[in-house]
Amino acid sequence: MRPDWESVEAETVSRLREIIQFDTTNPPGNEQPLARYLERALAGEGIETTLLEPAANRAQIIGRISGTGERRPVILLAHMDVVGVERARWTHDPFAGDIADGYLYGRGAIDDKGMLAANLMVMLLTKRLLSKTAKNPSRDIVFIATSDEEAGGEWGMGWLVSRHPELLDAEFALNEGGRTRIIEGGRTYLAVQSAEKVSHVVTVTAHGTAGHAAIPLRDNAVFRLGRALDQLSRYSEPVMLTEITRQFFSRLADIWPSAIEKKAMLDLVNGKGALSDSGAAILSLIPVFNAVLRNGISPTVLHGGKQFNVIPDTAGAVLNVRTLPGQSIDAVVERMRGAVNVQGVTLEITQRGEEAPASEPTSAMFNAIADTAHELDPKISVVPYLSTGVTDSARLRRLGVEAYGILPFPMVQADEERMHGNDERVPLQSLHFGTRLIYGAIERLAR
Ligand SMILES: [Zn+2]
Repeated sequence: MRPDWESVEAETVSRLREIIQFDTTNPPGNEQPLARYLERALAGEGIETTLLEPAANRAQIIGRISGTGERRPVILLAHMDVVGVERARWTHDPFAGDIADGYLYGRGAIDDKGMLAANLMVMLLTKRLLSKTAKNPSRDIVFIATSDEEAGGEWGMGWLVSRHPELLDAEFALNEGGRTRIIEGGRTYLAVQSAEKVSHVVTVTAHGTAGHAAIPLRDNAVFRLGRALDQLSRYSEPVMLTEITRQFFSRLADIWPSAIEKKAMLDLVNGKGALSDSGAAILSLIPVFNAVLRNGISPTVLHGGKQFNVIPDTAGAVLNVRTLPGQSIDAVVERMRGAVNVQGVTLEITQRGEEAPASEPTSAMFNAIADTAHELDPKISVVPYLSTGVTDSARLRRLGVEAYGILPFPMVQADEERMHGNDERVPLQSLHFGTRLIYGAIERLAR
């Protein structure tokens, strides 16, 4: 039995508009009223709900459709909070949910309220069909909407993991974190995030002699720091292919429009020695590909002296270092130390990220997403993907849940880049594609 997609589309649009109209800019978040709205929507159709309030005005809402228990649960996860807006630079009210030229505008339209609305619709549609067929799903379908994702998750998934891990008991989870990208030539690829890089903080400190700026000193800490950073700018970590990046490039090659890059992808994964190296070198020119091929080093913060006429005894730089799954940050920093040949300069790890296992790119969940995507668009290419950003999926993977990240709305790069930017919007057709994708994947998985 299939939902009546035409009437579903109108309902999805009006739900998403209502969800966007709750201003959940984080900080402060204020997700509780939106959680109450979701609770009413779910409970109103007989879905069991739990509302948890970790702090004033913060909330997590959980809805559960119980299955026969034949299989372990699947979680549909989305966050309710959004990042701030520069109102003056928007042409639409970011909290109105305006519709214009086939797009729905608003903060959160693609991060992450679009998926929140799609997940809500999947729950409602599943429950409605269930009441007609009286055939229970083979596993619980668990809807979770969290607070605070954009500010680290302390009041959201972090809180749930530490206080209520029993609610997160599941075989699979579907979350944000991938992409459905329409590329040059009109082909689409669906990147399903199956692992993510781990984010660490490394501090570079240069030491020198302090003194009056009137007497220049050769060991000035600021010059030493500059030299050290210059040397680091010319260093890159070696290329490291994981099973996920191997599959990513080999499947992406099927649809990639540029002949040179397509060949580079195939050389990288199939070639040996120099051929593979030359493929890696070509792909490394593209920043997003470079970032999945190796551990990444980005200087982000500088600190030094306080006054124009005083030479400080130290100057420092903060680097965000992101490691591929399974790579040791200690080994990376050891190599970075080897690349810096400046007296009086030290490198220290000041914040260690936590490792999380990868999710299998051949699981029932991955296949359910891929099969549904092919049904909706026979020419789509579905690729496992290692994300360079950090999501709540890492926390779930550490609990033993196989989590996958998608952005289920087919979009060109320029639209995807509006995420966290101005005039964020989702194409209406893509919103409907995304709802069908999630519905189809869950239906296959819970049969
Ligand atoms: Zn997000």
